[in-house]
Amino acid sequence: MKHLRLRPAARPRRRRDHHHALNQARQDILERIAQNGPLTETLSAIARLAQPNPQTGAAILIPTPQGLQLVASPNFPAALAENLTATLTPTIPDELQTHTLQSAAGEQLGAILLCRTPSAKLTALLAEHLDIAQRLAVIAIEQHNMVEELTHRAQYDSLTNLCNRLTMENRLSQLVMRSRSAPKAVGVLYLGLDRFRLVNDVLGHRTGDELLRQVGDRLRTAVRDSDIVARSGGDEFVVIIPAMVRAGEVELVAEKLRSRLAESFDVHGHQLCLTVSIGGCSGAPGADPEVLQRDAYTALHHAKRQGRNRTVMFDPAMGSAPPQRLEMERHLRSAIRHQELELHYQPQIELSTGKLAGVEALIRWRHPSLGLVSPATFIPIAEETGLIVSIGEWALDDACGQARQWQKEGLSTVRVGVNVSALQLEQASFTEDVMRHLAQHQLEPALIELEITESSLMRDPERSIAQLHRLRHCGIRFAIDDFGTGHSSLAYVQNLPVETLKIDRSFVTKIQQASDRPPLLENVIRLAHSLNLRVIAEGVETSAQHHALLAMGCDEGQGYLYARPLLASSVVDWDRHRPAHLSQVTQHQQPALA
Ligand code: C2E
Ligand code: MG
Ligand code: MG
Repeated sequence: MKHLRLRPAARPRRRRDHHHALNQARQDILERIAQNGPLTETLSAIARLAQPNPQTGAAILIPTPQGLQLVASPNFPAALAENLTATLTPTIPDELQTHTLQSAAGEQLGAILLCRTPSAKLTALLAEHLDIAQRLAVIAIEQHNMVEELTHRAQYDSLTNLCNRLTMENRLSQLVMRSRSAPKAVGVLYLGLDRFRLVNDVLGHRTGDELLRQVGDRLRTAVRDSDIVARSGGDEFVVIIPAMVRAGEVELVAEKLRSRLAESFDVHGHQLCLTVSIGGCSGAPGADPEVLQRDAYTALHHAKRQGRNRTVMFDPAMGSAPPQRLEMERHLRSAIRHQELELHYQPQIELSTGKLAGVEALIRWRHPSLGLVSPATFIPIAEETGLIVSIGEWALDDACGQARQWQKEGLSTVRVGVNVSALQLEQASFTEDVMRHLAQHQLEPALIELEITESSLMRDPERSIAQLHRLRHCGIRFAIDDFGTGHSSLAYVQNLPVETLKIDRSFVTKIQQASDRPPLLENVIRLAHSLNLRVIAEGVETSAQHHALLAMGCDEGQGYLYARPLLASSVVDWDRHRPAHLSQVTQHQQPALA
């Protein structure tokens, strides 16, 4: 009797233990994925999970830029593994069972290969392991590809695929440090395309973009592989010559570039001719990379002032900064004194309901003669000179006052986003300052969402993150701004006390039609949701983008489609007419907005 009772009980327990172990293994693997662990280690754990008994061996085969890569479980025959990666298109032997790994969008990501001894049957147990392994492998590879793509985006200019400004600055810093031990001078050239704006204005942005792409290609092929070519923004490029062997080499390279760009360009059937202004300088080993950049930029400014289409080498007599900049700084100081700054507010819409979820405060400078000046022109100067600390504090105070005012007018739950710069976060008194402004206006902390960028946290991470935690503790919310342009790591964001991820406009502009589902964007939204982050898409300009974002599960949208930044006094009125306005601008597809 005792025997009979024990035997049926033993099996379920074994099964329970087994399930427990399987679940544990699955949890461990998901944890590795969330922590962005090395892909081969994660795949190796998955391959082990796919082989539940000693009679089965499993391997995962994935394509990489270097060729096929195979990650095998211990039971997988080593000779077979070697054969499989020997060529780019291996023949899979009959004894191997192939299970392809496919993304939700139908992309082939790789395959799981199972090798079983003839006696080992495809049991329910093996099928269950295989199924879980397949799912986990797809998640791991998709996540890895997404991180790689985001890292690439953060380092390279998406239009020309040249290094971006940040990467160029990092490489230049490494170079001058290295050149201390290997004493060779470094050359820096700043290139500005002359009157490029005309191309955009007359022939449109598509042609302008294509021209920039072709300029990028020519520059890249005109210099040595060891030289660095970057697009530093707009129509400006930078070329760095890492180790110069003779005097006058910078000038020689500059002339070579100029003659390459002088050949006409064929852009969408237009024959276009360009001239370029170049500013150059060279630095002895150990030179300050910031000074090198500034000198080359100053020289470029002089090249333009002397009539363009020329190369000018830096001369200390030129001073240290282009006069325009110094002038701008002087004007900005006076703008603060004369209260010429004002905030405009851009609505943020809940995509599924069309409700007003929040507004972002965007600073403007009402210049007595220039009219409204964009923050893109003066915020960088304010940051460089430290003026941003007082400008930022003013903006926060004004936004709090405005939020309180709207509350009184009935817009009670509208959250106000305020941009905060790195320098503000680094101020020891920042938390107290924020709390003081809230108290002065009797505003609940939850109504303010501070927008920070990942790169602003990178300057002094310890201090900035401590500041974030202190403010979060007081009830202030945070959004990561321009996600996808900087460091772009969701694994990093996961450890920060933030509620919202604002996806940069460059992701949104990729959407042409309502049926488009850019895989990277879709993955970022899915992953952000799995981290409990609310997702706002920036720069929504078309109804197609609106519908695609809605279908991808994005929570909110902000962009010219819904509203341009508005005067504070117009926000309540805009909200009143919102349903009619939104149903017009998003009408092409299903009328999702109420
Ligand atoms: P941001 O925080 O990413 O702000 C979004 C920018 O995108 C705003 O530019 C906005 O006007 C623009 N925008 C919104 N919708 C669309 C659209 O559909 N298409 C296009 N092409 N653009 C759109 P804005 O106002 O020129 O501000 C530029 C940047 O200046 C802001 O980028 C932010 O980084 C900075 N900024 C603005 N106000 C402040 C401030 O008070 N403090 C600090 N530190 N920075 C600020
Ligand atoms: Mg912002
Ligand atoms: Mg932004």
